[in-house]
Amino acid sequence: MSADRYRPICSAVLLAAMACAHASHTHSAHVHGEAKLGIVREGASIVLWLRVPGQNMMGFEHDPVTPAELETVRDVMAFLKNPAQWVQLDAAGGCTVQTVDVRPPFKTASNGASGDSVPLHSGSPRNEAEHSKHENVEATYRYECRSPLSVRGIDISLIRAYPSLHKIQVDIVSDDWQGSQLLQPGVERVHFSR
Ligand SMILES: [Zn+2]
Repeated sequence: MSADRYRPICSAVLLAAMACAHASHTHSAHVHGEAKLGIVREGASIVLWLRVPGQNMMGFEHDPVTPAELETVRDVMAFLKNPAQWVQLDAAGGCTVQTVDVRPPFKTASNGASGDSVPLHSGSPRNEAEHSKHENVEATYRYECRSPLSVRGIDISLIRAYPSLHKIQVDIVSDDWQGSQLLQPGVERVHFSR
C-alpha cells in the first residue's frame, strides 16, 4: 500500500541523523580521506548534505593565517558554493538548485560575524594545539525537480576534484527505497535504486 506513509518518516529520520551529525561533528568519526554524503529525494525535492574533513579540501584544519591559506579557503568555498562543478543530476529530472549552504570549519574574515576577532596574523607558532582537534567542511544543497523520478542517479566528481579524498560514504533515502553506497576513485555515480 502506500509508501507515502513511510516516506516522510524515513526522511525525518535521516534528516535528524544528519542534523545530529552536524551538531556533534567534532565528536563523530572523522577520518582523513573519507567524506559522508546524505541524499534525500522527497516529492520534487532532492537534498544533498556533505561533510568532508577540512584536511582533504584545504590541506589543513586550523584557522587560515597566511595569504595562501586564506586564498585556499576562498577557493574551496567558491568550489562548494557552485555544485554545478561537481554534482550532476540526470538532466531528464529538470532539477535546479534552490539553496546552497556551505560552512567552513573556522572563521575567516569573510564569514566571521560582524568582523569579530579573527586572528589573521597571530604571531604565535601553531603546534600541538591544532593537531588535537579536527574540523569538517559541511555543505547542504536543495534541488527542486520538474520530474524527480526521472533522476535515476547523481554523478559526484568530488574525489576527482580533490584526489586526497578516496572514499565517500553515501546514505540515500528515495521514495520507498533507502540504502548506502560507496564512491571511490572512478566510481562517481550514486544510484537511486539497487
Ligand atoms: Zn582532521
